[in-house]
Amino acid sequence: MKLNSLKQLLVLFILAICTWRLLHHQKHIPNDVYPYLLNLSPQLISECQTDAKSLSADAWSDLLAIRSSLPENESLYLTQQIKNKTPLIKLDWGSLDDNSRKIIRKRKAILVNYPYYMPLQYTFPVLGEVWYEDSFGSDREGGKRKHEGTDLFSKEGTPIISVCSGKIEQLGWNRLGGERVGIRGDDGNYYYYAHLQKISSELKVGDQIKKGEYLGAMGHTGDALTTPDHLHFGIELVNGEWINPYSFLVVWQSYSK
Ligand SMILES: [Zn+2]
Repeated sequence: MKLNSLKQLLVLFILAICTWRLLHHQKHIPNDVYPYLLNLSPQLISECQTDAKSLSADAWSDLLAIRSSLPENESLYLTQQIKNKTPLIKLDWGSLDDNSRKIIRKRKAILVNYPYYMPLQYTFPVLGEVWYEDSFGSDREGGKRKHEGTDLFSKEGTPIISVCSGKIEQLGWNRLGGERVGIRGDDGNYYYYAHLQKISSELKVGDQIKKGEYLGAMGHTGDALTTPDHLHFGIELVNGEWINPYSFLVVWQSYSK
């Protein structure tokens, strides 16, 4: 009897450790992922996506991994093979050194595992004329805090939609955000839409939401009361870090042009 309960305790203990490790592992993001993704040029991404249109579903990531890692004269030999429908694993690397090959394979894996740039995987959050710039990290409240997102300016009432599918986690009023919607994306990130004039009455906390679904109308509520109408859009990663959504927005906007 005593031995049995000891065994049960041991099993529980092992289970707890496994669960903790699993959860912890999911929150761990390798250091090189976001610096790479956020510094890619939207122009280069768009060129690779256009060139890959008639190729396999992930050829854009092969082209992008190669072109973002090598100068153009060195990448040409490899990108020509991709355009002739040779997959990355079967490339003739020519005289390219081992380290460069390793970097290209690693970057390809990042682009596929964190598919922000996969064509049409995400969508742009504002429907209509819009103006925005990269203001991530600029001072707010006289330097008391930093701006943790991108402000997208348009007319009051302009429709705001969800950039991805997920589940509604936060809804309604908070001091800074005013009328805000927080969505836990299927990718695990938290997507934050703030200062809305009005949230769609169809939405409830816990609801599943699809990419492109209507969230509400643009406004200037919360701490945006004295500013022009805009959507504050933020992305918080699973590890609690807010990242700069600017490059993603530029690329997602290009799909609707
Ligand atoms: Zn803002």
